[in-house]
Amino acid sequence: MHKIIPTLSTTGLSSKLPNVGTTIFTVMSKLATETGAINLSQGFPGFDCSPELVSLVEYYLRNGFNQYAPMTGVPALRESLAQKTFEQYNVAYDPDTEVTVTSGATEAIFAALTAVIRPGDEVLVFEPAYDSYVPAIELNGGVPIYVTLTPPDYAIDWQRVAEKITDKTRLVLVNTPHNPTGHVWTRNDLNQLADLIRDRDIWIVSDEVYEHILFDGRVHHSLMTHPELQERTFVVGSFGKTFHVTGWKIGYCLAPMELTTEFRKIHQYLTFSTVTPIQYALADYLKQPDHYRKLPDFYQRKRDLFLDGLRGSRFTFTPAEGSFFQTVSYAAITDEPDYDLAIRLTKEIGVASIPVSVFYNRKNDYQILRFCFAKDDAILQEAAERLSRL
Ligand code: PMP
Ligand code: GLN
Repeated sequence: MHKIIPTLSTTGLSSKLPNVGTTIFTVMSKLATETGAINLSQGFPGFDCSPELVSLVEYYLRNGFNQYAPMTGVPALRESLAQKTFEQYNVAYDPDTEVTVTSGATEAIFAALTAVIRPGDEVLVFEPAYDSYVPAIELNGGVPIYVTLTPPDYAIDWQRVAEKITDKTRLVLVNTPHNPTGHVWTRNDLNQLADLIRDRDIWIVSDEVYEHILFDGRVHHSLMTHPELQERTFVVGSFGKTFHVTGWKIGYCLAPMELTTEFRKIHQYLTFSTVTPIQYALADYLKQPDHYRKLPDFYQRKRDLFLDGLRGSRFTFTPAEGSFFQTVSYAAITDEPDYDLAIRLTKEIGVASIPVSVFYNRKNDYQILRFCFAKDDAILQEAAERLSRL
């Protein structure tokens, strides 16, 4: 069983999120630390960012860039982002009116959802879903409507999606490349979505934080590259994944002016602005595309190293298409619930993972664990070796 213990109130305050407890990422990372296990659970790189980026931050820290940034983000970073986006996707966003820097993708997702959702609105969510989505929908009075994706390929059945769209549907939440499954949207997925929402008042929040991490020659089909979708989409990104700096919590939102205007009204009172010296550093660093162009090769090698290590084992898998997560099935090994197995593997063989059932509304257990392979090679090899003993 998946054991989330809701926080009990002693003051009579009734919880707005009664089913929310400590996130699985915190639970598993803590257990990994306590037991000394290899931590392939929470998604963060096990290696440092580039010294050049650190030097840039240091420069701005030491040279007086330490007061509030503009509410929308420092102009240099918004300009770098607009330029990079144009070079990569051939889509022009105005840095003044259509690009906003946020305190992580998490804030951008929350602000975008809040800008759109009114009480009673239905929001389509593909599950397994990243854990911040549903609480953000519910806090805004929205109703999550789940489209369930299943292993091994987690492909979207568009007929099923069509059946879920009603007059109340106000928003679709997209995440490609997908956490936790590594599934990646195709051009056809974009076209199917466009067909379904045409002539309806439906907006889109597209979480594309893994936009630079795709494998086997795949291309990232950002929702902004489909003109009809672009008009209605808040595209969310994060520097955490791209530059190995998850602890810096800087993300951004790209959206047409009308949408950005509403987005900024929320962002203005959620955080107002985001850490200043790092924004200047990122503005400079972003100008060198090599830093993110080498990511597919860098992570594909790690994915393959980990999977090569598992090939002799009884785990089965389809190689991840993108992201830095690999899901594996343990159906041939044991009948245990995935949550119990993740705990047991952490304690007994010293490898921490995430049970994928936690990303499903009804905790569907398909006997799948998620491993983060953004780790040093020796760690990945050691983890695979330990897992192969099962
Ligand atoms: N969306 C997805 C799919 C993620 O995996 C993560 C973090 N790992 C986030 C959003 C949050 O990004 P940030 O840390 O920039 O808030
Ligand atoms: N996004 C990371 C993951 O999926 C975790 C982020 C967090 O701990 N909230 O593992």
